[in-house]
Amino acid sequence: MKFRFKVFKSLKLRLYIVIIIFGMLPVSAYAVISARLYLSSAISQRISELQSHANIISNLVVNSNFFASDDVTELNTELSQVADVYKGRILVIEQGLRIARDTYGLEDGKTIISKEIIETFAGENSKYINTDDAYVEITVPIRNNETQEIIGAIFMSFSIENIMNLYSSRLKEIITFVIIFGVLIIVASIFVVNKLVAPVKALSGRIKEAAENGETDMLMDFKGYSELEDVAIAYNNMVDTFRDVEASRMEFVSNVSHELRTPITSMKVLAESLISQEEVPVELYKEFMEDINSELERINNIINDLLTLVKTDRSVSTSIITTVNINELIEGLLKTLRPIAAQRNIELVFESFRQVNAEVDATKLGMAFNNLIENAIKYNYDDGWVRVSLNADHRYFYLKVSDSGVGIPEEVQGRIYERFYRVDQARSRDAGGTGLGLAITRNIILLHRGAIKVYSKEGQGTVFTVRIPLNFQA
Ligand code: ADP
Repeated sequence: MKFRFKVFKSLKLRLYIVIIIFGMLPVSAYAVISARLYLSSAISQRISELQSHANIISNLVVNSNFFASDDVTELNTELSQVADVYKGRILVIEQGLRIARDTYGLEDGKTIISKEIIETFAGENSKYINTDDAYVEITVPIRNNETQEIIGAIFMSFSIENIMNLYSSRLKEIITFVIIFGVLIIVASIFVVNKLVAPVKALSGRIKEAAENGETDMLMDFKGYSELEDVAIAYNNMVDTFRDVEASRMEFVSNVSHELRTPITSMKVLAESLISQEEVPVELYKEFMEDINSELERINNIINDLLTLVKTDRSVSTSIITTVNINELIEGLLKTLRPIAAQRNIELVFESFRQVNAEVDATKLGMAFNNLIENAIKYNYDDGWVRVSLNADHRYFYLKVSDSGVGIPEEVQGRIYERFYRVDQARSRDAGGTGLGLAITRNIILLHRGAIKVYSKEGQGTVFTVRIPLNFQA
């Protein structure tokens, strides 16, 4: 079943059908039409010949005064000649539908009653063609030259067997020709189709080979149809993308290992130094244990952030979308952050231009905004300021987080959203950062089909702007 289905979808089969149909149809049509034209032109030529003989006979009838006189030799000769040459029968009919002359000599003197003859006496020529029985019949009125009065009629019935024979032998020739032509077309189409399809087969063969051998560069030099070269290029691009994904995954794993190793190593050093010393004072134990505890907290933070990062990835994330008052959301965040800012005497202000309600995942977006505001405090100078402002138009709302902090050097501004990237390792670590915050923030903003931008000058401060659609688009 599946096999049959595949056959019907085959490009080869479709090409065969197209070539055969377009090759055969015009030829067959031309052959049939030309045979038919030949037949009808041969018949009409025969009829016009017969008609001119009928006219001659008609003249002879009138001129020799045939119906009244006995001197009809000339007419008789003409009649029997024509009847002989064209293989048929001629009737000369006079007034009262009486047969004055029958070249077969069968009906002389009899009356003939037929629709055609009666119509001929009314002045009409008639002709009748029967190709099945291979004969034609024509009738011609006989007119008096002066009075134009119809004084009789000529009826001719002639065989067209020779024409029909010629036609059927011609038809046979044509059919033979069409069959030979058809066979040639089929043979030629097998060659042509195989040639046409070869590059497609070659391409799929090479993709298969490349996949089996893991040699992903194999298609770089593929040459075939331009369309297939496009496929090869697309394949190569896809392979590149996979390779990039794989590389970034490896890098991520190695970053995670590195990040986790640092606190583990320092815990090991602390533990070993306790083990190697004898009679360690309880105070030292306590101190080292506190250090170990803070390293554990670090590990905990990294793991939590990693889990959050995975959860906020657009391809896996499930969101709980509700209509949220963004002003209230931000007020809530600022409330918990204010004590941290106060510790370093950093001023934290909120500027709201209007009330904003938007369809968002409140928990995730809260986390994203929290990261931005927390960073603005973390990477700030003592006695500095952080300004959060909120605005909206009919489609988006805009959040701006500005600070008077250390700033981000221009050349690394593009990298700050990378996982584990930190401008200043030590500073970030001291502030309890994992280097994952902005990666998470960006994930969440993209999840909302929003955008994030950074403007910063080293030593002068940083501005993050976020734009989020008011209506959630899945
Ligand atoms: P971290 O956990 O280190 O804060 P993030 O992903 O949140 O990680 O930020 C990445 C890096 O970007 C930070 O280490 C810091 O160097 C820099 N950065 C982020 N926000 C700011 C800011 N407001 N001012 C200056 N530097 C910042």
